[in-house]
Amino acid sequence: VTHAVTTNSLSSAETNRTPVDRVDETDCCIVGAGPGGVFLELLLARAGVRVVLLEAHRDFDREYRGEGLQPPTLEILDQLGLLDRFLRLPHSRIPRMVLRTPVGPVTFLDPGKVSARHPYLVYVAQPRLLEFVAAEAERLATFRLVRGARVDRVIQEQGVIRGVNYKQGGTNVVVRASLVVGADGRFSKIRQLSSLELEAHGAAIDMIWLRLPRQPEDTPAQAGIYAGSRGGAYGVAVYRGEQWQIGLAFPKGTYQQLRASGLETVRHIHGEIIPWITDRLGYLQDWAQTAVLSVESSRVRTWHRPRLLLIGDAAHVMSPAGAVGINMAIADAVAAASILAQRLLQGEVRNADLQAVQRRREWHTRLV
Ligand SMILES: Cc1cc2nc3c(=O)[nH]c(=O)nc-3n(C[C@H](O)[C@H](O)[C@H](O)COP(=O)(O)OP(=O)(O)OC[C@H]3O[C@@H](n4cnc5c(N)ncnc54)[C@H](O)[C@@H]3O)c2cc1C
Repeated sequence: VTHAVTTNSLSSAETNRTPVDRVDETDCCIVGAGPGGVFLELLLARAGVRVVLLEAHRDFDREYRGEGLQPPTLEILDQLGLLDRFLRLPHSRIPRMVLRTPVGPVTFLDPGKVSARHPYLVYVAQPRLLEFVAAEAERLATFRLVRGARVDRVIQEQGVIRGVNYKQGGTNVVVRASLVVGADGRFSKIRQLSSLELEAHGAAIDMIWLRLPRQPEDTPAQAGIYAGSRGGAYGVAVYRGEQWQIGLAFPKGTYQQLRASGLETVRHIHGEIIPWITDRLGYLQDWAQTAVLSVESSRVRTWHRPRLLLIGDAAHVMSPAGAVGINMAIADAVAAASILAQRLLQGEVRNADLQAVQRRREWHTRLV
């Protein structure tokens, strides 16, 4: 049986910093167990590559994350032989994404046009998706998920990344690997530590999110993006079974003004843009019930350095407008696994291989 790590004695380079308690060695060390990280880990571990996945949080419970899976992602789950079991998780199917304007609805994403097999979007709470995929990988000896492991350093030797350093409670561990993958999201520490430069592409809005109860007569068909009658204002309604997840876009940089004007203003704007939620806006009584998402659209010019690759939000933060962030991160993972698994088994990932991953995926992210 091949195990995910072998544990070695400490080298002098590692002992002359903060004391290191252990050095593990593996083929691929992935930082961040979001959608990109968990799919990459499963695909590589299934291919026989030894993988360590480091996640700063102890659980997968996060509020207000992306939840909509598009047909290509459902196709991936199908090809992995996981779709039937996946669809046993609580979910809702949405036939299309609709922009609801004051003059009538406009369909802007119709899954039926891209897939005859899965002509719908599936909404699943992101923590359930992550748990499901991670549990699948945890059956494999080649995989190890370390929860509560915060990476704070990359190990570099002559400009080449050789691994990472993480803290877990009071333990300080080095993981040496043939490849480090930064799948650690929009504020990627790995991106920052490896000096890969982020180019911002500007976004005009931020979003404020809240949850409101569902009424018995509500249907998933009410989900969608709602355009207000005042220029540029829009809201989003995401159907989540017992609740609605409601988002309101507001001009970037004006959150303090919005806050100063009071919750009454938020209730008023919401009611104006999505009139059918007016009857339950009274539930919004405290700013603590809301979460603000700073909308970014940015990407790194080069997704890699020798023996290091960025995927998902770490490489490209997407606008939330088409609900594509999760799907893009998963597609990056599939491309990375198909190009790199064999190389990792041979023990050497070349720069050209990492370039090939970026080439295959970059135009999709630019398109969106
Ligand atoms: C509030 C909010 C609302 C969103 N709404 C939508 C939506 O409606 N539709 C949509 O498609 N997308 C949405 N997104 C975006 C979507 O969630 C992301 O695009 C997607 O999750 C990106 O996946 P990822 O795997 O690249 O990174 P993430 O999901 O961000 O995962 C990164 C992981 O890395 C871990 N991590 C970070 N730093 C470290 C470290 N130093 N050491 C170890 N682990 C670390 C984090 O804890 C996290 O688990 C939203 C995002 C936010 C924040």
